[in-house]
Amino acid sequence: MVKPEWGTKRTCPKCSTRFYDLGNEEPVHCIECGTDFVPEPVLKSKQPLTFEAAPVAANLRASPYELSALGYQAIPIETREGKAEYVEAQRAFSARSQDLRRRLLDATAAALAASAA
Ligand SMILES: [Zn+2]
Repeated sequence: MVKPEWGTKRTCPKCSTRFYDLGNEEPVHCIECGTDFVPEPVLKSKQPLTFEAAPVAANLRASPYELSALGYQAIPIETREGKAEYVEAQRAFSARSQDLRRRLLDATAAALAASAA
């Protein structure tokens, strides 16, 4: 059972040992190899990210694999209608990813600014 006083579970970037930081976060000290490291900030979101199966499915459905047994009907991209369906699926995925993209860019900019300071 995980106890709150154990802190956060960390993975050492050098030796990959997994351990609890006991609440000591800046920097985290690896109990195995002694490496000190600053954990990457966790991206916080008002909404939990949900795995988007649809775009993966669109790519698979447009591929030459028979996936109907898994519930994926083929997108006939060789036809005008199929191509339009595929383009629309990709466009919708791109639109849904913009919020995550924005947050990743913000987190990257913040990390770069912090490292330059
Ligand atoms: Zn280590």
